[in-house]
Amino acid sequence: MSESEDHWQLATQGVRVGTERTSAGEHSEPVYLTSSFAFASAEQAAARFSGEEPGNVYSRFTNPTVDAFCRRLAAMEGGQCCVATGSGMSAVLATCLATLEAGDHIVAAHSLFGSTIGLFNNYLGKLGIETTFVSPNDVDGWRDAMRPETRMLFVETPSNPLTEIVDMTALAEIANDHQALFVVDNCFCTPALQRPLEFGAHVVIHSATKYLDGQGRAVGGAVIGDADVVGDRVFRCLRTCGPSMSPFNAWIFHKALETLELRMAAHCRNAYALAEWLVEQPNVEHVYYPGLASHRQRDLAARQQPGGFGGIVSLRVAGGREGAFKLINSATMLSITANLGDTRSTIVHPASTTHARISAAERERAGVAEGLVRISVGLESVDDIKADLAPGLGG
Ligand SMILES: *Cc1c(COP(=O)(O)O)cnc(C)c1O
Repeated sequence: MSESEDHWQLATQGVRVGTERTSAGEHSEPVYLTSSFAFASAEQAAARFSGEEPGNVYSRFTNPTVDAFCRRLAAMEGGQCCVATGSGMSAVLATCLATLEAGDHIVAAHSLFGSTIGLFNNYLGKLGIETTFVSPNDVDGWRDAMRPETRMLFVETPSNPLTEIVDMTALAEIANDHQALFVVDNCFCTPALQRPLEFGAHVVIHSATKYLDGQGRAVGGAVIGDADVVGDRVFRCLRTCGPSMSPFNAWIFHKALETLELRMAAHCRNAYALAEWLVEQPNVEHVYYPGLASHRQRDLAARQQPGGFGGIVSLRVAGGREGAFKLINSATMLSITANLGDTRSTIVHPASTTHARISAAERERAGVAEGLVRISVGLESVDDIKADLAPGLGG
């Protein structure tokens, strides 16, 4: 990053970082759909492969379009380095493969994205890396779960679907005391709302599939952090193991970052208005949204998320699963899908979809009640979203 880029505000970074005009003089970034790159000489090829000379080699680990996306996202997160991956899950996998080994231990929030829990339990477990799951906002519980061999703390904040807020400063301190990596999946907030590296996180992970694209078009992921962990270790894992992002998808994400701040502000505005309205509706037992005065961690959320309280609202309706299904089925505009972070509002019943594969006891512990419904609030008019939900909530 040049010195001026370093001082730019987020909105400017989102639009300007990572653009390098070619001799064609294009104003919008080109897409480099090429699997490999040609060298001027055998000597240059040797120098590129050894890393002696920086430059493109092969698109599994070097591609100008992917690099442009990485530079832009790294700047927005305030990180030194970014590695782009083929999905959010491969970002988690690459981070773990790059930094952990057999015998290591992870402490993770029990409210993580379902596949992340599956990756830890089923795949890392098989390699001899054990995970202990704890309540996201119980700092003592995190400290108690630490072992001498704990090498990683892993969280999402706010949590899904109950929007619990993790105190990142407190967890960073625990991680540093144990020389463990503190990893934050910043999928729900994006750097437009929250920048975990400023609160002591060592690594930030993204599913670019969600708000970074924000338009439901492509699957991708990213890992952001310092030159040692991400620039060296995660990058070398990407180079060797190959969970890479395609240049075309990188181009989509790169362009999408240009509107990230605007979109996130609109998601937050709509979600806040919807949450306040839901509180007043019949048959709504509880509304989970960090911006509400009733949210126990509102102050912490405001501190960690200066950009806004986010676009995810969950609510518990009367009548358990039947009440939840009635609400979901009576909505005609909202899309019934487990995806989130789209321009279109989506509605889902976590207990029978995103959290169906964990046991009833684990669901209970995570607070995923049968009457719980999660809404990813999109960019439609909030009046139309309310109108779509009102019949399903009526007495
Ligand atoms: C979707 C999601 C992931 C996984 O990302 P993919 O791009 O679907 O692989 C990881 N973490 C969170 C919080 C997610 O919502």
